[in-house]
Formats: sequence, structure tokens, C-alpha cells
Amino acid sequence: MNHLILLVLFILTSCSQLTRMPSQLQSDKHVVFDIDWTIVAEVKNPSKELIASKKLLLVEDHYYIAHNGLQDLIVQILNKKDVNISFFSGGKKSRNAELLSKIKLSDGRSLSEIAYKILSSEDLVKVEGALENAPFAERYKKNLQLVSKNLDQLIMFDDTIDFVLEGNSSHKNHVFHMGVAFEHFESFKEAEGLSGKYIPKTYDQWLLNNNRLVILKGAFLDAYDESLRDGISFSEAMKKKEKLLNFQSHEWNIYSESYFKKKSLKVEYGGACFDGLKVFF
Ligand SMILES: [Mg+2]
Repeated sequence: MNHLILLVLFILTSCSQLTRMPSQLQSDKHVVFDIDWTIVAEVKNPSKELIASKKLLLVEDHYYIAHNGLQDLIVQILNKKDVNISFFSGGKKSRNAELLSKIKLSDGRSLSEIAYKILSSEDLVKVEGALENAPFAERYKKNLQLVSKNLDQLIMFDDTIDFVLEGNSSHKNHVFHMGVAFEHFESFKEAEGLSGKYIPKTYDQWLLNNNRLVILKGAFLDAYDESLRDGISFSEAMKKKEKLLNFQSHEWNIYSESYFKKKSLKVEYGGACFDGLKVFF
């Protein structure tokens, strides 16, 4: 009888080892994307031309547009086998699921299919004692440990810096601030003559806002290598890039220019891929 019990215990232990996915290892890295104004912009009252361009995503009666470079950034992250991609938005679960299922990679997979976790408003933590009329991000917080307990290997990209749990856990140290995003304008010309917090003041500000994810791809690849080479955590390596890029200033600097130029070269030469195998001129 004892032998039988031992055998059952052995089988159960073996099965639990077999079903443990690589994505659950403590050493794995995690990239978490906020959705609104980080990977997509909502477009209110789009022009007929923009609707006809098929660039917009219609989800629950709202139009969205994916930021430049999103798919390319996702593919580069997916190429790193020890990095998981999750999404954590204050939007509703149904909206997030539909939106992510409509953004496709070149291999046909959607962002919802490649996601490790998709977290939504239902997963937010309510802040006790917060005033009812306080901004949403002050009343509710994202608990990054719902993605991974090991925050050292986790970075979240978010346009709102303080949308995460505060206090002892200091989740803020694991947020890469994307800066306050501007509204979407197809060209800077559309923004000229307008004013406000969410309007780019110059062509350069408009260009930087539209290409943050293009720049982020280069920063991610460098930070990934640096974390391995320099023995620092992935989170720390990404936070160093956040400081250097300083997206919240809305100004270009040598770091953002350098990561953007690498990408521009590819565009200049007709989409040739220098860091891949194929180069077409
Ligand atoms: Mg956001």
C-alpha cells in the first residue's frame, strides 16, 4: 500500500514538472505594455480618408490606430525566447481582448494570441481612501506582480507613470515612462494652429511622439544585451534607457536620434533588413 502511495506521489510530481511552462520560470523576463496611448491612440472623428486607408481599428464603437513600429517591436521581443509579453490596461476586458485580437503580426498571429497575460480594469486594485473625484489612475492601481512575482526582470511601458502600486513594493521602479502622449495626427500640418497639453507644438515633437515604439525597439535590444553583459537586472537596464531617452521631455536627443536613424536606414533602402539575413537593394 505504501508503495502505491509513493508511486502516485511520484507520478503527480513528475507531471507537475512536465506541465511547468518555460514562461513560469523565475529567471524569465517580462515586458508589459499598457494599451491606451502607449501602443495605440484613440482617434476621435477620423477623416473619411483615414477610415478608407484601413489603418484604423474599430472596437466597441471607438476608432484606434496602432503606433508606428508596434508590430516590429513585438516581433523583436518575441525573438528573445526568455521574454514574455503581457498587456495591462485600465480598459475593460472585452475591449482589450477585441482590440488586441485585431492587431496582427506579419505571420498572422494577433497580439492576443502571443500574450502571456492580458490584464484589464477588472484586475486593478482599488485604492482605499482615494477621493471619488480623483483621477482614475489615483483611485485604481496596477499590481505588476499579477504578471510576475520577480519584478527585477519586469518592465512595464506606460504613458502614466503613477498607475502602479505604491508603497513598499515600489512598482514605479519597474515602469518605463513613455511620456504624456499627444493626440493622433496623420501629419503635423493637422496639428498646426491647435493648442493644448495633448497637441505637438513642433514637427519634431510630432515625429518623436509617433515613433516612440520605433525608438524603443533599439533601446530594448540594447538593454537586453546589457543586462546579460553587465550583470544588472533587465528592469534596471531598461530604466537606464528611460532616463537617457527622456520621452517625457518631448525633445529629441542623441539617444533617440541614434535608435531612430538605425530604423530610418532600413526605410531608406526599401525595407532592407540589415540585422536579419536578407538584404534587398
Ligand atoms: Mg495609457
